[in-house]
Amino acid sequence: MKIRDLLKAQEGPLFSFEFFPPKTPEGEEALFRTMEELKAFRPAFVSITYGAMGSTRERSVLWAKRILGLKLNALAHLTVAGQSQEEVAGVLDRFVEAGVENILALRGDPPQGERVFRPHPEGFRYAMELVAFIRSRYGEGVSVGGAAYPEGHPESESLEADLRHFKAKVEAGLDFAITQLFFNNAHYFGFLERARRMGIAIPILPGIMPITSYTQLRRFTEVCGASIPGPLLSRLERYQEDPKAILEIGVEHATRQVAELLEAGVEGVHFYTLNKSPATRMVLERLGFKPQP
Ligand SMILES: Cc1cc2nc3c(=O)[nH]c(=O)nc-3n(C[C@H](O)[C@H](O)[C@H](O)COP(=O)(O)OP(=O)(O)OC[C@H]3O[C@@H](n4cnc5c(N)ncnc54)[C@H](O)[C@@H]3O)c2cc1C
Repeated sequence: MKIRDLLKAQEGPLFSFEFFPPKTPEGEEALFRTMEELKAFRPAFVSITYGAMGSTRERSVLWAKRILGLKLNALAHLTVAGQSQEEVAGVLDRFVEAGVENILALRGDPPQGERVFRPHPEGFRYAMELVAFIRSRYGEGVSVGGAAYPEGHPESESLEADLRHFKAKVEAGLDFAITQLFFNNAHYFGFLERARRMGIAIPILPGIMPITSYTQLRRFTEVCGASIPGPLLSRLERYQEDPKAILEIGVEHATRQVAELLEAGVEGVHFYTLNKSPATRMVLERLGFKPQP
């Protein structure tokens, strides 16, 4: 089902879960288990990421098919980095032929160790070009989403410039957006207010990552630029050698974030699960959402 239609028809907030294609048979088995467990929370869709420079294209297509096979609604991420337009079009067509109705159109990051993004000589430069391309190829046949950055994209010169570029991407044909992870809701609310003031009306789903590992958190936030509030960081630092304590701090913080977002009337919440179910499940259960048989 198209996310555009789900968001229009919704009666309450939607939940969605993000996964990445595992590299090993053990990882694959674990992901199947995670999906089965989280399926009980009736997600509106689950998304499968697309590896840097197209590195997971085969596995991403395979997992999109598996998601549909599990009777879950699929959102396939697709990036343009390191690929020609023809290659990107080929993967897009494979997703659509497999029955995927939702694409998250992204640019992708520069390869590891490089700071500047260089488009493929025959590729797209910005995500908005991919958005326009999908629209020209499939019209309303596909629901198209894109990324939004409450704290600004790390490469952008200012929040204002980033928001202007986001607006252009929306005008190229986005139905909805999902934000980069953030740990302070004030960033999301501020972004939403600025976006609405500029006339951006599409649903912008907040992306929440329950923290489960201190080292992983430092690595992620370095790449994506999300800031960690001082008091939260101090607590995490104090307990960084104690995985149980980190999980509890992470779940408690994410639960408070999601509760506040729901109270503010967000259309839905997108969970960055890192292919594991416990933290996301704990957050939902603490908020009173029960797994359904
Ligand atoms: C929800 C979500 C899911 C993600 N999933 C993946 C994934 O599966 N695989 C992966 O590799 N990465 C993923 N990413 C990371 C993403 O690829 C990076 O953040 C990337 O650096 C930017 O992608 P974008 O689609 O936001 O790019 P864009 O929207 O193209 O923006 C990139 C930069 O260019 C600027 N810009 C945009 N348009 C213009 C213009 N017309 N003129 C000048 N400047 C412009 C923007 O301000 C920004 O600084 C995800 C990010 C999010 C938030």
